[in-house]
Amino acid sequence: MRKTGPDKRTVELIHNRSAGICERCGWAEGQQIHHRRARGMGGTRRDSTNAVYSLAHLCHPCHSLVESNRLEALSDGWLVSQHGDPSRVPVLYRGTWRLLDNEGGWMNCESGVSSLSSGDPMTPTN
Ligand SMILES: [Zn+2]
Repeated sequence: MRKTGPDKRTVELIHNRSAGICERCGWAEGQQIHHRRARGMGGTRRDSTNAVYSLAHLCHPCHSLVESNRLEALSDGWLVSQHGDPSRVPVLYRGTWRLLDNEGGWMNCESGVSSLSSGDPMTPTN
């Protein structure tokens, strides 16, 4: 009964989104599924922890960078606080700010911080 990770369909959607390439640096081979929001103590009760927008396909160096530079990762959207909603926190995706959705798609946005403070991060920039 333990749910320890994303299901098969979620992983497939993420692999389709990344095309097998790291979603942070954009050139290395994607090797690990990264959780943007850490699973809470005692396992997850929130479905969004393993949602497509909550996960990223990263190479080893990017994954360890994200885990060891947590402040930078938070400001770049690769980490989301326990109180945050990864579907509303843009991520610096291969140098471009993107808001990820739950179907393996995304929306470009100008920058994470300013669109968040406007209170409507879902507004497209085009
Ligand atoms: Zn990388």
